[in-house]
Parts: sequence; C-alpha cells; structure tokens
Amino acid sequence: MAAPAGVLVSPSMLWQAELPNRYGTLTSDQLGEAISSRRKELGSRLLILGHHYQRDDVIRHADLIGDSLKLSRMAAAEAPRRGARFIVFCGVHFMAETADILTPDDVQVILPDFSAGCSMADMAAYDDALTAWEQIAETHRSSNVRVIPITYVNSTAAVKAFVGEHGGACCTSSNAREVFDWALAGGNERLRVGERAQLLFMPDQHLGRNTARARGLRSELDAERSKSLADMAVWDPRKPNGGLSAETISNVTVLLWAGHCSVHKLFRPEHVAQARHHHAETTVIVHPECTQEVVELADEVGSTEFIIERLHKAPEGSHWSIGTETHLVERLCRSSLDRGVFARMLSDCQCMCTTMVRINQQHLLWVLDNLAEGRVVNRIQVNAEASRLARLALDRMLSLRPPAPAAAMVD
Ligand code: SF4
Repeated sequence: MAAPAGVLVSPSMLWQAELPNRYGTLTSDQLGEAISSRRKELGSRLLILGHHYQRDDVIRHADLIGDSLKLSRMAAAEAPRRGARFIVFCGVHFMAETADILTPDDVQVILPDFSAGCSMADMAAYDDALTAWEQIAETHRSSNVRVIPITYVNSTAAVKAFVGEHGGACCTSSNAREVFDWALAGGNERLRVGERAQLLFMPDQHLGRNTARARGLRSELDAERSKSLADMAVWDPRKPNGGLSAETISNVTVLLWAGHCSVHKLFRPEHVAQARHHHAETTVIVHPECTQEVVELADEVGSTEFIIERLHKAPEGSHWSIGTETHLVERLCRSSLDRGVFARMLSDCQCMCTTMVRINQQHLLWVLDNLAEGRVVNRIQVNAEASRLARLALDRMLSLRPPAPAAAMVD
C-alpha cells in the first residue's frame, strides 16, 4: 500500500522557527496581558484549546480544557457555532492533527511550537506498521486468523490512517475495553465459523496490556507467575518479525506494540508502597498508561477524565495519591484542598510531559501576533486522503459509544 502522502512527517522533522528576541524579554505578566489583548482583538475567529497536562500560565488562556480527543470533538462543534477560523491547540502534535481531521476544512489548526511532539506517538512509525502488517500476514498465511489493528488516539495521523485502511479503530483510555471487545468479535464484520481474531495494539503496550488483562487475557508476567502461556506478546518494530517466533505470533491473541509513555512509565511499584506508608488510608489512583505492576497495586485505574471526576466527587477528608502528569495533579491537589480533600502526587519523580511543556506563553503570543497581522504560522494540516482514512478509524470508535460529556469551558 502506498503511504498517504504528506502525513509521514514526524514532529521532530518539523522545524520550529526561532522566535524574535523581544519575546524573551517580556515578563510572565506582560506576556499574559499581551495574549489577553490579542484574544480580544481576534474575537470569535479564535478558539484556544488547552490539554489537561498543559502548564498553568498557558492553560489560563484556553477557551476549552480537556483531554485530546474530547477537545477536538468539542472544537469541531464549537468552531462552526462561534464562527472560529483558527484553532490554537496548546497540546502536542498528534492532538493538533486530530483536531484538523475532525474540524471543518475552512478552520486552520495551529500548534504554537512544532517541537511539541509526543514520544509515544513517535514510537509507531507508519512504515514500521506496514512492515509489521506484512510480516504478521505472512505468518498467518495458512491459518484462519483475522488481524485487527487498534491504535490509541495518542498516535500520528499516518498510523490512524493505516489502522482505518486495514479495518481497525482508534481507542482512548476511556473506551479501550469497548474497542477491544468490538475487535475480538471481528470488528465491523463478525468472525466466520473457525475464524479467530488477533489484535495489533499500537503504540502503547501498557494501555494494551492493562486493557487485555481487564478482559481476562494473560500477560507475559501473569504467564510467568502461573507457569502457563501468555495471551499477548510485545512486537518490537526494530527487530525482524517483531523479535517473536512464528509460533508466538500464531498463538497470541494480542500483539502489543513496543511503545510507552515516557511520563507514566516513571511510576513504579515502590511509589505505591511509599504512598501507603505516608498515609495508610490513601486511595491510589493511576492512569492505564502505567505499567501492569503499578496498575495491579493501585486501588483505581482510569483515564484523565476519570481521575478528574473521582477527585471532584471525593468525600471531604479523603486522601488520594495520583499517578499521572504533574501539572494536572498539582491543579487537582489545589482544587481538592479547597473542599477538604487531600491529594498528592504518587511519586516525587518529575513526571512531567517534557514535550507539552514546550508550549509556553512566548510561543502562544507569537502565533497570536502573527494571526492578528494576517499570517498563519505553524499550521498543522493532514492531507485529504490520510484524513479520510484516519477518520474511518475514529468513526468506528465513535460509533461504539455515545459522545462523552462536554469538556470544561473557560470564560
Ligand atoms: S504524557 Fe505521554 S502520551 Fe501524553 S503527550 Fe506526553 S509523552 Fe505523549
């Protein structure tokens, strides 16, 4: 299959222009005032989106706050309603791509700093996915296995397009279980008698493993403990045949792509033990991008939105230890304290998304200054064919579940 031209650009290949010196001379307050003034000037033509992991001085300028997919879906509804022409996405590259796919063609999506990529999304390249697909198909040549690809929304538009073209679907950390069930039943076409489904889950092995375990499948660690065979194996795209034997590829139910989130993998089992030592009654709540070992020890596991909701509804006097990105946790700790709820970061490690943090007030002001002067800089645009194919994968996911509740509105 030919690559969908124009989507094989990884964030690291996008060159971020150096900002004029004056942006470095302004104080945080001056930058904040200048951004507010540009927002007023641009009025309803502008919509600023802020991801939950964004830094405080940037997120205060957002019109909508949410997780990546929810923001894009909200923007797709909100941009036509208010007549917005420009969406400035204070998140990372793949999020801006998804916003471009889901919003009308006359809305331009801007990422304030091109160097804000996602290390996890970059771990699954389009060419590697295609190679894996061919090698897996070769292994299954004489067997009755239907391979269905699933990609976490935290992936490039190119990988979403690959999945869309091959009959698969996207998933989020909120709906991964429903998408797993759909795929295990054969996807959009029910399995024939004697046919078996195998899932190729990209790019986050931990979300894939935790979801598969919640569906009763055995991980490699479970198999080691019970001296039985695992239902899943890690496909390493840097090795021939993913580093797996033909027998393993033939037998497992889930092939997990060797990718991970560099933020959530920093949480370790000893952090859970330390949190319980610090406060015996603490409720440990973690994101499913954490490892199996951490998830097993936690009291609750769920998406960013789930964690926020649990903290918002937590009873007065309760104590929580949270395993997700630090900017979100710090805000949750502050807002919880106002209601007499005590929350802390699960670990003292710097669990910060170091790419998202590159979006700062200087870059936000720079793109707004350019817009006000009639120039669009740092536009993210997915080509029409890749967008169409990626949309297939997104729509298959969306058809499985009713729309999620609205993102937080600011202003
Ligand atoms: S937190 Fe992890 S998955 Fe999310 S943008 Fe950062 S590196 Fe990517």
